[in-house]
Amino acid sequence: MTERIQEFLRARRREGRDNGPCLVVDLDVVRDNYRDFSRALPDTRVYYAVKANPAPEVLSLLASLGSSFDTASVAEIELALAAGASPERISFGNTIKKERDVARAYQLGVRLFAVDSEAEVEKIARVAPRSKVFCRILCDGSGAEWPLSRKFGCAPEMAPRVLELAQANGLIAYGLSFHVGSQQPNPRMWDKALESCANIFRELAERGVYLQMVNLGGGFPTRYLKSVPKVRIYGNAIFRALSKHFGNRLPETIIEPGRGMVGNAGIIEAEVVLISKKSDDDPLRWVFLDIGKFNGLAETTDEMIRYPIRTPVDGAAVGPCVIAGPSCDSVDILYEKTPYELPVSLEIGAKVLIEGTGAYTTTYSSIAFNGFPPLEAYVI
Ligand SMILES: *Cc1c(COP(=O)(O)O)cnc(C)c1O
Repeated sequence: MTERIQEFLRARRREGRDNGPCLVVDLDVVRDNYRDFSRALPDTRVYYAVKANPAPEVLSLLASLGSSFDTASVAEIELALAAGASPERISFGNTIKKERDVARAYQLGVRLFAVDSEAEVEKIARVAPRSKVFCRILCDGSGAEWPLSRKFGCAPEMAPRVLELAQANGLIAYGLSFHVGSQQPNPRMWDKALESCANIFRELAERGVYLQMVNLGGGFPTRYLKSVPKVRIYGNAIFRALSKHFGNRLPETIIEPGRGMVGNAGIIEAEVVLISKKSDDDPLRWVFLDIGKFNGLAETTDEMIRYPIRTPVDGAAVGPCVIAGPSCDSVDILYEKTPYELPVSLEIGAKVLIEGTGAYTTTYSSIAFNGFPPLEAYVI
């Protein structure tokens, strides 16, 4: 919680504008995070994953600091351009794109595309000639708190064929990418994926295709309830793994941090709407907030991300609570399987602060499910 956010929320309350949950993002924290990433991985270019928080102020700040951008759609490309990024600093990193969107990205100047299949290579060869492509490989994301499925990436054995096809179709077979799973608390998870990458580099070199780049993806964690290693520790582990597998011929590298760049920069202020019990002898209290799965806290799905929640009565005796959102959908429960300890003196109407909410909140907020507006957001 920064002093600037505290002051902003006090002013909002004083002016009576506090009639719904809101996210406040402190740009000073984003600036510090960008600096930490650049120092931890000094020879690596940062491509901020726009989907984590596409607020124009966040993108403009990062563009001014020298960041590049990982985008997943034409709309995200346009946001990055509007924030001042030139097209050479934009990667179209989604492996599943409509051909007309690839064409539009190419018209806008984008020349770097992700693929994980031969059919996608063919689309890019048709409408984005001579562009650079990198092939995403499947990667074991175990240990990640927000694991990624098999939706993106191909088996490492398939990557050489995909990249050879790219080269044969006039594209530049540029490199490889992987993602170790979002909120990855283990810095050693990059090692195995980098071993696969080095093997693919060698295999393709034997066939006259010389890859240049490894995209190390995202996965860098932010602090929720548990503490996580500093980004410097990730930088060291990644550098060691790169040296181990590539020797003296280190490839160009890029990272695509999303959560790690903006997660700890945001705080959501929410309000307790109701505290009740389901029966007289219910050991659990039900605490209903004015924010839930559909207006910002989608990452509580399966109770995967456990946000720190601060109350005005922290320090008082606590008891177990189920925490739920305001909508009439019965899946709109944030924490139940593992109840959340909150002060017993917490009252209806109290304001609570949900920390670590700068990433994956506004973008996951529905337009008006049940009439609840999308999450209001301020960037200061
Ligand atoms: C979402 C995404 C990221 C960001 O991941 P984080 O775990 O938030 O750092 C990076 N790269 C790609 C391709 C993504 O889709």
